[in-house]
Amino acid sequence: MNSRRDFIQMLSAPIVALPFMSSMKPAEIPYDGPVLRIAIMGLGGYATRVAEAMLACKKAKLVGLISGTPAKIKAWSEKYSIEAKNCYDYTNFDAIKNNPDIDAVYIITPNALHKEQAIRVAKTGKHVIVEKPMALNAKEAEEMIDACKKAGVHLLVGYRMHFEPKTLEVIRMRNAGEFGKIKFFQGLTGFRSGDPKQWRLNKALAGGGSMMDIGIYSINGMRYMIGEEPLWVTAQETKTDPVKFAEGVDETIQFQAGFPSGAIASCLSSYGMGNLDRFFLNGEKGFAEMQPSTGYGPIKGRTHKGELTQPHQAHQTIQMEEFASIILEGKKPIVPADGEEGLKDMKIIDAIYQAVKTGKKVKLA
Ligand code: NAD
Repeated sequence: MNSRRDFIQMLSAPIVALPFMSSMKPAEIPYDGPVLRIAIMGLGGYATRVAEAMLACKKAKLVGLISGTPAKIKAWSEKYSIEAKNCYDYTNFDAIKNNPDIDAVYIITPNALHKEQAIRVAKTGKHVIVEKPMALNAKEAEEMIDACKKAGVHLLVGYRMHFEPKTLEVIRMRNAGEFGKIKFFQGLTGFRSGDPKQWRLNKALAGGGSMMDIGIYSINGMRYMIGEEPLWVTAQETKTDPVKFAEGVDETIQFQAGFPSGAIASCLSSYGMGNLDRFFLNGEKGFAEMQPSTGYGPIKGRTHKGELTQPHQAHQTIQMEEFASIILEGKKPIVPADGEEGLKDMKIIDAIYQAVKTGKKVKLA
């Protein structure tokens, strides 16, 4: 049985089919709806995780590859059964324009490459999915949004936490007023950065340091956990290793933000400390705490009402299913993950860097 159509036909089949059908769980009912056919650009560490997770997707499928390394194209093609006609390198991927078998390109390259690559993909008429941070700053993000609007394609950012079930439960509780008026958010995101030669510690490729890479989870988190946009930020930088973390590559930044309701946030972004993966949301009637809060999971957390028990699934599987629903079915997610959403984070990152530089409170609205 290959399709939902076959399954429906089977429903009208004689009674002999029934024992087999009754043993089928809903998840096993074959899917033959539309599928988002995706090419991944940049076959590195995170792309590997996304590709594996996509094997469990119904609505999203890896069908193409873009890489500058022929050996990777060969290995990935064999592993994921990718046709040679769907493989490109960084010089020729504009030709995807003429490939009817690819719907979207997922850009998973170093941060500094995102803008130019996204604009090139948009010009091919294919939908753009880009990893976080979507760009190096708000100006670049705006250029990407404009290019995608002009081309009439979606622009989505790899904000996997926007679809994570425990996170969505906390958001549901907040929207239902279960925490009462929100007063405070704390976001601690960081890890000890390894190899000093990696692109993440190269300002030209990363656009900054921990803030661009991991601090963005606290920025994004304070917005979706509090459910408001900040009015101002203040920020302070600490550097213990100026050789490893050169000028323009932040090791640790603490930042604070104020929100329209009067809620405040206090966050830490670091490449110099381990065990930093914790969110705490405090309201007048209750609280939520999550640790780990943004790692690959399983996310763990509790509220004043008890443990969060929503089941874990690979974040990238859920994200890609949701992205397919957004692009193919016009689904509106609870927490958006589009270019405008990414731009909001880039504006806050710009403001945080400005606050570090000037030592002053920077207004956002
Ligand atoms: P990585 O170093 O493992 O992979 C980067 C890939 O880009 C490599 O395959 C590399 O060959 C390729 N590349 C193309 N041009 C390059 C160039 N000029 N210099 C260096 N590499 C080049 O990095 P990664 O961890 O996969 O990160 C890639 C992107 O994914 C980053 O934007 C990062 O922030 C993002 N990311 C997101 C998550 C998440 O949870 N959403 C997790 C990890 C990384």
